[in-house]
Amino acid sequence: MQCELCGKEISSPRHVIIDGVKMVVCEACAKYGKPISPPPTQRIQKVAIRKKEKTGEEIFQSMRKVLVQDWAERIREGRIRKGLSREELGAKIGEPTVAVAKMENRDLRPSDETARKIEKVLGITLFEEIEEIHVSGSGSSRGLTLGDLIKLEKEGDEGVKD
Ligand SMILES: [Zn+2]
Repeated sequence: MQCELCGKEISSPRHVIIDGVKMVVCEACAKYGKPISPPPTQRIQKVAIRKKEKTGEEIFQSMRKVLVQDWAERIREGRIRKGLSREELGAKIGEPTVAVAKMENRDLRPSDETARKIEKVLGITLFEEIEEIHVSGSGSSRGLTLGDLIKLEKEGDEGVKD
């Protein structure tokens, strides 16, 4: 095998990138290029192993807080119980009166932030926790797979690098 740069016979070929081109060069010419990083397959394997350790078994569990079904009724009843007008409640949560009216009529879904403020002001509960469990590899259920995690990890890496 010959060095692609100087043409000398190579005893131990070096794989480098010179001006964006992959080349096999001799030891002496290797300093002109950047060493090629290890093949991506090796990195993916590392990521997969790390993820597996982190999650223990391949079961992904997450608690999700969602608005209760009857949030509109709870807001109206809570406000009346507190003896507040829509205007007063609106002032306390930083929303216009019309927004409060719309929420009570279910025409406007409060943002999570607004809903939390309403919970505090009225002393009511507007969120419930839903438990989501995905078991990967079971076939039928489509949860997060290891492939998805690797994809996420790679996308994340690109953002951080350079
Ligand atoms: Zn050379």
